[in-house]
Amino acid sequence: MTDSEESNRQDPRLHDALAAYLAAQAEVLRLAKSSGAPVHDQAVSPGALSLKRTTEPMAGIRAARSLHKAARRVTADYVRLARAEGICWRDVGEALALDSPDLPDGAGYYLAAAAYEHAAGKPDLLREPVYQFDCGSCWMPIADYGPYQSDPRDNERGHAQDCQRFRAQMSAWRARLASAL
Ligand SMILES: [Zn+2]
Repeated sequence: MTDSEESNRQDPRLHDALAAYLAAQAEVLRLAKSSGAPVHDQAVSPGALSLKRTTEPMAGIRAARSLHKAARRVTADYVRLARAEGICWRDVGEALALDSPDLPDGAGYYLAAAAYEHAAGKPDLLREPVYQFDCGSCWMPIADYGPYQSDPRDNERGHAQDCQRFRAQMSAWRARLASAL
């Protein structure tokens, strides 16, 4: 096992990042080829025997840019699915790797707000963003005002009266309140 393979084995995130890079590289070549750009093998450095499959720089940039935009859209699809399934903004923030030492301590709230603003946009004087998703439990369209308030009824509006997922959220919130007293 090489040193880099050993470190990948120890840190699954490095392994995933390398796998994603190789997949993106292959997809860029496929996109470039399908747009008519030539794909060829090139020495990794002058005189080297090792070859690297590549395409024309401009075709590569355009294909990588398309892939980047598509990946952002796929990310947004999964964020919406997470919210439909009742996954909280804090957990979405963790999956988006928005946690950083710059966020104030007290974790949850600021990470949740960062995730919401990543998806819905930042509020300003003229605009309060509203994130929309269809609840995966009651199937009603939900207006999500973000994780800013304590009472879930202030944050999510539109659930059906008998929505199981929202009832569970309310129960968990009431339990937290009771335990804080
Ligand atoms: Zn619902």
